[in-house]
Amino acid sequence: MSMTIDVLTLFPKMFEAVLLESIIKRAQKFKKLKIRMHNIRDYTDDKHRKVDDRPFGGGPGMVLTCQPVMDALKAIKKRSKAGKVIMMSPQGEVLDQGVAVELSKIKEMILISGHYEGVDERLRGIADRQISIGNYVLTGGELPAMVLIDSVARLIPGVLGDEKSTHEESFSDGLLEYPHYTRPADYRNNRVPDALISGNHNSVNRWRKIQSIIKTIKTRPDLIKHIRQLEVE
Ligand code: SAM
Repeated sequence: MSMTIDVLTLFPKMFEAVLLESIIKRAQKFKKLKIRMHNIRDYTDDKHRKVDDRPFGGGPGMVLTCQPVMDALKAIKKRSKAGKVIMMSPQGEVLDQGVAVELSKIKEMILISGHYEGVDERLRGIADRQISIGNYVLTGGELPAMVLIDSVARLIPGVLGDEKSTHEESFSDGLLEYPHYTRPADYRNNRVPDALISGNHNSVNRWRKIQSIIKTIKTRPDLIKHIRQLEVE
């Protein structure tokens, strides 16, 4: 499977550093992921290339107007007819691993990054989903869009070297992931737990499951209440 993501933004350059490095770069090279950037400003009818205006009723900041976003979307929809429109918004549903898994199954996605004081409320109607990356407000939707792209791209089969990485990591089973250690086995008298160097797979798995539960209870007890049954064989 591969995914195409069209991104509408006023600041396409912000994406370069993130999307042209590491795993996301490789995903594009191996055609698992196609990202097309669109500058909202290129679609404005305004002769001064304006894309924002003052809010009706007064108040601080400027609001992204409907026309350039709607026209950009119309142009993109010609190529990406089935594209699901996702608006980045602090007022949307909060992105978590479950939402990322759902979104990773979509083949064509169109992300809208707002800016300034926000977008004209009438634009919300065009979104299939509104996604927030957390209960805080950023200056624009660019970082949230990049977070979303990263979280879904790594779930596309074939993007990560080892598929197992996404099955065992934090949140995949509702728990935080178990701790990892690497060489040396003894670092300044701080030894790796015996179970991990025992060579016994059952002991390793049991130790990891227990540590995963302990870690979650200690640092994220809120996650535990969503789990119906904790099994340690
Ligand atoms: N005035 C808006 C409000 O209070 O809901 C906030 C607008 S914010 C300054 C500008 C843009 O940044 C938003 O339109 C959205 O695209 C993006 N944004 C800011 N925080 C975000 C978050 N936590 N998750 C997703 N997008 C966010």
